[in-house]
Amino acid sequence: MSAIIEGNGMKLQQADENSDPNDLLLTGFTFPDKPDLTIPALVFKKTKDAVQKLALSSNPVDRPSSIPYNLTRSTTAGQGMFATEDITTGSLILTERPILVTRAEFPAESQLAIEPYLQVLFGRLTQPHQVLYSNLQNCKSPLEAGPLVGRLRTNGFTFSPYEGSPPHAGVFPNFARCNHSCGPNAQARFNYTTWAIELRATRSIQQGDEIFISYVDVLQPSIKRRAQLAAAYDFTCRCKWCTLPRAKLAESDARRADIAGWSQVKLQMGDGSAAPPDFLAWRNSDTFAKMHPSALIQSSLGKVVAATREGLESFMWMHVMTLYKVYALLGDEKNFRKWRTTFRDLILANLGVTPEFETANRQLDDPVNTVPDWDHWNLVAKATETAQAQ
Ligand SMILES: [Zn+2]
Repeated sequence: MSAIIEGNGMKLQQADENSDPNDLLLTGFTFPDKPDLTIPALVFKKTKDAVQKLALSSNPVDRPSSIPYNLTRSTTAGQGMFATEDITTGSLILTERPILVTRAEFPAESQLAIEPYLQVLFGRLTQPHQVLYSNLQNCKSPLEAGPLVGRLRTNGFTFSPYEGSPPHAGVFPNFARCNHSCGPNAQARFNYTTWAIELRATRSIQQGDEIFISYVDVLQPSIKRRAQLAAAYDFTCRCKWCTLPRAKLAESDARRADIAGWSQVKLQMGDGSAAPPDFLAWRNSDTFAKMHPSALIQSSLGKVVAATREGLESFMWMHVMTLYKVYALLGDEKNFRKWRTTFRDLILANLGVTPEFETANRQLDDPVNTVPDWDHWNLVAKATETAQAQ
């Protein structure tokens, strides 16, 4: 096999049937719903094979019923994505496949050395895709990276092409226009079954609002977030939180540190049986029948307020779950519906359409007959009282 480009310990090869699983290949991905389009890719042979298997069963991309955004000049940074209608929590804003894919890590040390590889990939883009790529912003200096690598580093979204794969970088030209906020109102995830990115609202967005995602770990203190954003994207974050006066900023950082603590808990979603530790502590306590959960409700509400103040609603799902589970045991239908709906929409925003979404809808249709242990606390409390009276 002959190398197309060779250098810096890296050999770029044309894919053929004799390729080794660990050969780095110049190849492309084609999907059954768009047979005429090949997405140029620079990936290992094993990645190509894994994705191609996926592609054979790939589902058509689920698109929003209407496009709820436009791309226009932002007051903060170049172009931005703006809502053209009100968008509810969990709603799909955009789905998009990449126009170009590469390994995220290259063996070559210098970003400048990678430019020729990108030139080969760029040459294989369709003409409209070349225009889209060329129009993307480049925040890297010419000393740091060539023009194509600079655009990839500025706009590339890191994703796994198949479950368990090492990170790759994809260019999604519309999604790339979504700017950063430390309290983002949208979140993106890569859907393996459609091979498209899905951007969903993490809180309700009003018509005219700019749509934001976060480019860095938003649970770090502002000073670290700003340093990372400056280093990787060459801008100073001027979001609502980073521009707070010093004392308020310290409070914001403290709330985020607290949120980082609770976001460590991982629960298996699906049939609605998962439960947060604070809820279980009450549910399984010896004094359950005598302990009205008012303190638990107050502390959960406090955490929901804290997350909302930071614009980090997507991190508060565990406390929302505690609330709807507590209200189910209290047989309080109005509050159950409120928090069960909030939870359903947050999970939709975080994970897309999953069995958990269907379970939530079933329970919301008829809570009294479908939610396990409905009104259970009152029943047990009454039974205990009766037993004591005798
Ligand atoms: Zn910020």
